[in-house]
Amino acid sequence: MTRTVFTGGLVFDGTGSDLAPADVAIADGRIVDVGPGLDGDEAVDCTGKTLLPGLFDCHVHVTVSQLSLVSRVQTPFSYQFYEAARNLKRTLDLGITTVRDAAGADLGIKQAVDDGLIPGPRLQISVGLISQTGGHGDGWNPSGHCVPLSVEHPGRPSGLADGPDEMRRVARTLLRAGADVLKVCTTGGVLSPRDDPRHSQFTPAELDVLVAEAAMQGKYVMAHAQGVEGIKNAVRAGIRSIEHGIYLDDEAIEMMLERGTWLVPTLVAPVNVIRAVDAGADLPDAIVRKAREVVDIHREAIRRAIEAGVRIAMGTDSGVGPHGTNLEELALMEGCGMSPAAVLEATTASAAQLLGLDSELGRIAPGLRADLVVVEGDAYDLPALGGNIRQVWKDGVLAVG
Ligand SMILES: [Zn+2]
Repeated sequence: MTRTVFTGGLVFDGTGSDLAPADVAIADGRIVDVGPGLDGDEAVDCTGKTLLPGLFDCHVHVTVSQLSLVSRVQTPFSYQFYEAARNLKRTLDLGITTVRDAAGADLGIKQAVDDGLIPGPRLQISVGLISQTGGHGDGWNPSGHCVPLSVEHPGRPSGLADGPDEMRRVARTLLRAGADVLKVCTTGGVLSPRDDPRHSQFTPAELDVLVAEAAMQGKYVMAHAQGVEGIKNAVRAGIRSIEHGIYLDDEAIEMMLERGTWLVPTLVAPVNVIRAVDAGADLPDAIVRKAREVVDIHREAIRRAIEAGVRIAMGTDSGVGPHGTNLEELALMEGCGMSPAAVLEATTASAAQLLGLDSELGRIAPGLRADLVVVEGDAYDLPALGGNIRQVWKDGVLAVG
């Protein structure tokens, strides 16, 4: 059993405590020792560098690579899986060794990574997006043409449901297909042309059934939730994380604090919609208008949630924006009042906690899996972080560098 020691660097252990000099020893895919003056069979010189735990992105869509309606219609069905392989590699290159896919990735993609068939971060997957008729996940267009973000296939069943009974069936169908988490839309969204992000979707009775079905199989629910009533419905139902949270108010923040609900801000998502349009993407006017409307409101809401102490985990909605630019989110989080250490904690230890993986991942501590990122220069310089990644280790194996 080879023991590899990372020597002479600073260590960010994931908990938000400050950078400190330490060596880190790994063996057999695990961290075995953290401290001064360690030795081993092999050494990685980390002088002038910082070690971070493998990073997380808690909201990606690895099978989504473009928003443009025309290209979504024209791209051959199976092309998305090859794009996913490329997207996963780009994500891993940033030091992101674990992602939560919030609709699109199916069990085959997850297994291909686990088996080493393609390089990428390990995945927690929702498979589909549970939506009511006319909701954020309904691909219907006024022409009658349906253009969902992810087309159904045998491993990715439909997430459309109306009423508690259908909700139960859809939840069970997605869990059967391998969902680790169920993703539901409790409000409209920016990228759905026919709804309003402020309006609620699904009734409390429907959401109760969903949360109960997930819990029966040891799983949890994440909610695409932008409008404040839909956010509150999600929190009351016991949903574990609110994604986006654009129109959070003080009462919603208070409820999230009381129940320990997580917030995954995805601040970069509306920015990326606007960029795509400025670069010539053909998106319906309603989508463009909504994206422009929400950017400032979103940041202000997230700033208040951070100030109040809501639990934050990093997520980007990549797929809406280009894969491989995920770390842009970190500087935006800092801009909403988080210290660099708090941002990195939200991208490591806290994210692992949200995903229920904190006994295995998210920190640099003996016993945990050896996911490590070697960063050149100042790891707290968040705008520069993406360009400073030198090595990425996953389960004790050098994956990038
Ligand atoms: Zn998303």
